[in-house]
Amino acid sequence: MKSQYQVVVIGGGIVGCSVAYHLALRGVTDVAIIEREELTAGSSWHAAGGFHAINADTDVAALQKYTIGLYPQVEEESEQAIGLKMSGGLELAGTPERARWLKSELAWLKTTGTDAYLLSPKEAAEMVPLIDPAGLQGALFDPHEGNLDPNGATHAYASAAKKRGVEVILHNRVLSLARTAGGDWDVETEQGHLTAEHVVNAAGLWARKVGNMVGVDHPLVPMPHHYLITDDIPEVAAIDGLMAAVTDLEGFTYLQREGNGVLLGLYEQNPRHWAVEGAPWDFGMTLFPEEIDRIMPELSIGFERFPALADVGIKRWVNGAFTFTPDGNPLVGPVDGIPNYWTACGCMSGFSQCAGIGLALANWIVDGDPGLNAFGMDVARFGPYASNDTYLRATTAQFYARRFVMSYPNEELPAGRPLKTTPVHADLEAAGARFTVNWGLEVPLYFAPAPDFQENDTLDRSNAELIVAEEAKAVREAAGAYEIAQYARYEVTGAGAQAWLDRLVASRIPEVGRIRLAPMLGEAGRLMGDLSVTRLEADRFWLTGSYYLQMWHERWFHAQLPDSGVQVRNITDDWMGFSLSGPKSREILARLAHDDVTNEAFPFLSVRSMDVGSARGVVGRISLTGELGYEIVVPTNQHRTLLHELRAAGQESNLRLIGDRAIDSLRLEKAYGIWNAEFMQDYTPGMSGLDRFIAFDKVDFIGREGALREQEEGPAKRLVLLEVDAADADAATEDGIWIGDRLVGFVTSGAYGHHVQKSLALAYLDQDVIDANREVTVFVIGDPRTARILPEPPYDPTSSRLRS
Ligand SMILES: Cc1cc2nc3c(=O)[nH]c(=O)nc-3n(C[C@H](O)[C@H](O)[C@H](O)COP(=O)(O)OP(=O)(O)OC[C@H]3O[C@@H](n4cnc5c(N)ncnc54)[C@H](O)[C@@H]3O)c2cc1C
Repeated sequence: MKSQYQVVVIGGGIVGCSVAYHLALRGVTDVAIIEREELTAGSSWHAAGGFHAINADTDVAALQKYTIGLYPQVEEESEQAIGLKMSGGLELAGTPERARWLKSELAWLKTTGTDAYLLSPKEAAEMVPLIDPAGLQGALFDPHEGNLDPNGATHAYASAAKKRGVEVILHNRVLSLARTAGGDWDVETEQGHLTAEHVVNAAGLWARKVGNMVGVDHPLVPMPHHYLITDDIPEVAAIDGLMAAVTDLEGFTYLQREGNGVLLGLYEQNPRHWAVEGAPWDFGMTLFPEEIDRIMPELSIGFERFPALADVGIKRWVNGAFTFTPDGNPLVGPVDGIPNYWTACGCMSGFSQCAGIGLALANWIVDGDPGLNAFGMDVARFGPYASNDTYLRATTAQFYARRFVMSYPNEELPAGRPLKTTPVHADLEAAGARFTVNWGLEVPLYFAPAPDFQENDTLDRSNAELIVAEEAKAVREAAGAYEIAQYARYEVTGAGAQAWLDRLVASRIPEVGRIRLAPMLGEAGRLMGDLSVTRLEADRFWLTGSYYLQMWHERWFHAQLPDSGVQVRNITDDWMGFSLSGPKSREILARLAHDDVTNEAFPFLSVRSMDVGSARGVVGRISLTGELGYEIVVPTNQHRTLLHELRAAGQESNLRLIGDRAIDSLRLEKAYGIWNAEFMQDYTPGMSGLDRFIAFDKVDFIGREGALREQEEGPAKRLVLLEVDAADADAATEDGIWIGDRLVGFVTSGAYGHHVQKSLALAYLDQDVIDANREVTVFVIGDPRTARILPEPPYDPTSSRLRS
């Protein structure tokens, strides 16, 4: 062991070894993997070693595909066998809805270039003769699945890294981490002291404890998990070659060939946590005793689906621990305020994700940027709320128990809710609000007039769509009030505020009393935010952005801040209010405001501090519905007063409370994009149309070079609005768009435009298809639907209503 390294990776599991290998690939070889015991000594040694390319987050799915594709290279470079078996995998559907869902999964897999296909229950049972097809509705075969030897794979990554210069130091626990005066890390280990420029937390079951060493509490917990390995089974022995892995989606089990027997693993509905604070330091390569009573319900279902297992001996039980985060994806990347501390932990699917994590993290350490959209696994996607033990237990248990359970697109899951509520939560609930959740905050979806209304969970449009239609109608004909507590707000002040903002965002900075839409770009010219900048005073600004990006945005702001002259304060929880929009919104505001709110006195994109009823608010003339509208925010302790007074003032104008779903319908009629759909980390200004807000003549703003290059070359894809010949369901995010056999784009949002009575979708399409104005085919729940590019938004294309 040397006394100094550029990077110390704490943990020699599959993830830590992959991070070290990827750093070496990027030319960073002054790296040590420091391991408490042996390589694999956490979760990696006893994993089942299965891998899949599917993930609910499509960017993480792409990284899983990369992981699977890299194994042969690692095996060859290391000359260490990893037992790679590309057997393919079957997913079984036990209900008709699940079979439809598989059809949509197939359509999505095709967009990734995977040659998957659907099978009948009989064909599935022919492929894997252990399956009893009774009650099955169908199956999907994905050739891009398989399994490997987890021990071999971890050692292969370590050996390949070693060949490139990485050092592996075993039996050496990291005891503490502290910053030196020069900004390096003081690393105290059992074998002595060293310093490092960067440390990577790849400590698996101990990662929460390693995080505590630098003062962070990561939202991850270990949970035990069972699989069993059977004695030889004649039906398996008779298969010459590989046997496809099987996931029984309604049965909570997975099965893979293990010699001439099988491995059967299960995700029980009654999971358990273990060592929530992190595993004990002296926890060895240890398994827990099997808890058969607890897992019996799922085990019985497994034995019914695979009847041959009932007659065969069990050779070995494995009940081992691995870590879960609230959404099941890992925690990767830097942490705001702790320079050169990097996370690569919380990974519950290490053999599907190790290389994706390694790639993103190595890029991040070397370039300061992951080089791809890594938000789905970024440590900054959770706020501090997620590390609360009660919340963590509830959400991780829900994720674990629903590992294979289908969630309907309109289904609301209950774990950890309600957590954050606004002061008007009870009032909205009394008005019929049904809520969704955004970063722990309860957000109204729609307002059901009948207290006993029950929304059906469905892949199609639900019975709530009639209510959504009424809300959309109210906005087009009268007025709607939409709660805007779910906007993040930052106050930027100080003598250097304007200059700092001018570099931070790509648009021009507005005059006092004005609002401007302001794309924010990363160094490479890709989108980092669709902010709005509101100038309240010469050196006092508000930046408004996405609620769930708060940690992510603050990390970025803080990285750009000069030592003095600018202060950025997160005031999201201090100001709340409503977006009031519709042709009657001015008359409602006029009843409450003492100021003149006529179009002449208060035009589009202006902002004023003004009294609204009894509250002192800030009102911006801006709206997301395409109608005349105002965003009214007040100090949070006056939010409830504002609601009551707004409703009273709106009564004679037929003001209606509206939710997220109506907003989607209304904004699509105007082709308005939003973050997390049309605007995302790996999209660019030219693609998304946000380039129209860029001041290209500004001499300096972050991402300028990339934006100029794109302006010169033109984007390969652009955002368009489609009218879809849909039936009972609208297009959804990531639905593939084709012309014949050619994939020409993908959907970013779909909704029914209730006013224009069209099924609409915003989508990225190849430029040549747009130029030729071709008809395209969108796959909606796996069914082909014809769609046409709309040359302009179907509602008020000149935006006369917005400016009226
Ligand atoms: C029963 C079971 C079956 C599974 N099956 C699969 C599967 O089929 N496919 C799949 O992809 N995943 C599977 N997993 C999950 C998989 O095991 C994990 O995702 C993966 O092993 C995580 O790897 P890691 O490197 O993050 O953590 P770990 O393997 O836990 O490695 C962390 C390492 O850090 C070391 N360490 C911790 N603290 C310190 C310190 N202070 N100083 C030095 N070293 C330290 C530990 O000793 C350990 O070796 C399974 C898990 C279980 C329990």
